[in-house]
Amino acid sequence: MRILIVEDESRLASTLQDLLELDGYLTDVCHDGESGLDNALSGIYDVILLDVMLPKLDGFSVLRRLRQAGSAVPVLMLTARGDVADRVTGLDSGADYYLTKPFEPRELLACVRALARRQPTLRSTDLLEYGDLRLERGSFTLSCGERSVHLSRREFDMLELFMLNGEQVLPKETLLVKLWGYESDAEDNHVEVYISFLRKKLEHLHSRVKIKTIRLAGYCLQQND
Ligand code: CA
Repeated sequence: MRILIVEDESRLASTLQDLLELDGYLTDVCHDGESGLDNALSGIYDVILLDVMLPKLDGFSVLRRLRQAGSAVPVLMLTARGDVADRVTGLDSGADYYLTKPFEPRELLACVRALARRQPTLRSTDLLEYGDLRLERGSFTLSCGERSVHLSRREFDMLELFMLNGEQVLPKETLLVKLWGYESDAEDNHVEVYISFLRKKLEHLHSRVKIKTIRLAGYCLQQND
């Protein structure tokens, strides 16, 4: 799951980033409203943390433009200001939840989990199943019957995307931005390398689930009998 943090106070931004990454999320940070909006519009994020007071474009405007563009991504607004008028403006602009600084890390993580649950395609438990496969979030373990293997972080994120999308084809570019983000200099062959790692692990598990290559389109899961 990928989270965008739009926060101009760099210390707070990196604290949030550490906190979320420790909890197993992938994150990107933007330090102003304009780049925050650009990134948010990419559609690759599952949740957005959005500060209100931001340089270039304030959080309320970012949110309004995001909603006007048709994005339904869950947004958690962060603000130092706790007055009712702000809260109302935030909710009216299309925020899903509002958190006033300073907040407890546990409260933030609970909000993120709650927002992620609102999206039906996202994980709602720590266990994801597809065909004969079971993927456990806490331990990065993939199992099939009695056999199990440990996945690296990137392998886990990639397989999770596949399991959530099933037989729907995922283009290579989608995998690249979802897993490595826009800022990274990862290239197409990174995707191929991780696909081959995952294929070896699926084989080792004797799973009936395969990652199928759809020429010129991308990849998807396939269950063999
Ligand atoms: Ca700020």
